[in-house]
Amino acid sequence: MAGDHYFLELEPPAERLRHAPHVVIVGGGFAGIQACRALAQSEVRITLIDKRNFNLFQPLLYQVATGLVASGDIATPLRELVGKQPNVQILLGEVTQLIPAEHQIVFNGKTFSYDHLVLATGSGSSFFGKDNWRTFAPPMKILEHAEEIRRRLLMAMEQAEQTPDPEARQFLQTVVVIGSGPSGCEMAGAASRMLRWSLKDAYQQLDPTKTRILLIDPGETVLRSMPEELSKQALLALQKAGVEFLQQSRVESMRPGEVVVSTPDGEQCIRAATVIWTAGVRASHLGHALEATTGCSLDRGGRVVVESDFSIASYPEIRIAGDLCSYSHTKDGQPLPGMAAPAKQAGSFIGKDIAAVVAGRPRPKFQYLDLGSMAIVDGSSAVADLRGLKFSGLIGVLLWAGVHLGLIHDMQQRVSLATKWIFSLLTRQRASMLLTGMPSQHMALNAADAHFPMRSGEGPSIASPDAALQAAMEYYSKEISGLSNTQEPNTQKSNTQELIDTNEDSAADSAAAIK
Ligand SMILES: Cc1cc2nc3c(=O)[nH]c(=O)nc-3n(C[C@H](O)[C@H](O)[C@H](O)COP(=O)(O)OP(=O)(O)OC[C@H]3O[C@@H](n4cnc5c(N)ncnc54)[C@H](O)[C@@H]3O)c2cc1C
Repeated sequence: MAGDHYFLELEPPAERLRHAPHVVIVGGGFAGIQACRALAQSEVRITLIDKRNFNLFQPLLYQVATGLVASGDIATPLRELVGKQPNVQILLGEVTQLIPAEHQIVFNGKTFSYDHLVLATGSGSSFFGKDNWRTFAPPMKILEHAEEIRRRLLMAMEQAEQTPDPEARQFLQTVVVIGSGPSGCEMAGAASRMLRWSLKDAYQQLDPTKTRILLIDPGETVLRSMPEELSKQALLALQKAGVEFLQQSRVESMRPGEVVVSTPDGEQCIRAATVIWTAGVRASHLGHALEATTGCSLDRGGRVVVESDFSIASYPEIRIAGDLCSYSHTKDGQPLPGMAAPAKQAGSFIGKDIAAVVAGRPRPKFQYLDLGSMAIVDGSSAVADLRGLKFSGLIGVLLWAGVHLGLIHDMQQRVSLATKWIFSLLTRQRASMLLTGMPSQHMALNAADAHFPMRSGEGPSIASPDAALQAAMEYYSKEISGLSNTQEPNTQKSNTQELIDTNEDSAADSAAAIK
């Protein structure tokens, strides 16, 4: 037992809990928070560990990326959410190692013990082994990704405004979104609405309605997990919003400014200043750490295969919830989808089950309530499949808005989001179109290059394009318009080449910082 390691050597919150079992929850996402709350009345000491100090509502990341809402509208500090719960201690840090045989985890460089462990560390993005693409095409998993995408979209428009050559301008006004699942469709639709509709009259030189948004997918239609009828409606709504869908197109290679796809008609080279990746998901790396130390099974996506109570074989004290688990003990034997509702239900069940185990009460059984799926493809059109009932258009939007506001924990955020959505529909205006951050603080540059934004005269100007956009612009002037590079070809490498050369390092750096 973990008696002498309770609360990570800190004082327990109440004397009566001094010898209570210690539950360690890793990850304050949908699943972790629910597990924590379900244990509120239980005689346990909970330590909630997360590498961020906030809970992120990932389904609305694309709205931050397209300036519709602010970062603070979709993220809530963990201390606000569960900090007042008397049996909870919240600690900021990253769990890096698991020692299940000793009931221990390694956290902030120290080893700590638990009686019950809940792993709910979610998932990250996968580039299918091509991690060097990460710097050219940011994924959308964390707040920094969304802010990075917004910066790239707005910076490309600013550069386009200053570019007299219409073709170069078109290049800067071309956005490629890779992957046509719910995230890709939402991102493409929202990017189109932001660039072609909200900014329609905002520039003097360029015509925002000429912005091209290309959605690329190997499949024949969008939203393939949805019923065919809804996929078709979603595609029509996207096309109406100005999104071009490139079906049966698989990305083969990428470099700044260029995406090469294979299609049934052969290879096609797409030139675009901004590329966004929504195609792949991989489970948190703690799944592999658990496999190495317990021999548990992982599925193809790296998710931990769990028993009917979300534990792993031979380790009943370890539970896995949310995107990190592969749970197939459902009526139809299909694994739970990697979505918010199943994560919440699993977290809630695990909390209740641990409470029952601790109190010696009969244990509950998990029953998954499938609430269906939905996606918003344009501000005025969404599709929803709610347990066989299909909705689209404006009714779909209202349902989508109701469900998403219901999932948001914080009342102030609900009001803020609803107000911003309505205001934007009525006025086209977006609340958070700020071009913030230094180029050197962003992906594709090493941390050593980073300069404090206020120190003018040193490092890149705060108004410079990011390295990725700079490289894309160089690619354009060199490869397409045939203009010679300003640097001597044999004496000094171009920035583009440097970016490609250092790509692995940069990708590793940014992957570490922005995973
Ligand atoms: C762009 C996007 C759009 C989406 N849209 C929808 C949607 O419309 N509807 C829907 O139902 N679902 C949607 N999802 C999926 C949904 O967000 C996830 O299924 C859900 O967040 C999973 O919850 P979780 O608790 O497992 O993980 P998360 O919510 O990801 O939480 C994991 C937590 O663990 C922390 N963590 C990770 N590693 C460590 C570590 N080593 N140490 C400490 N802490 C760690 C993280 O900081 C994070 O707070 C979307 C996801 C994305 C990325």
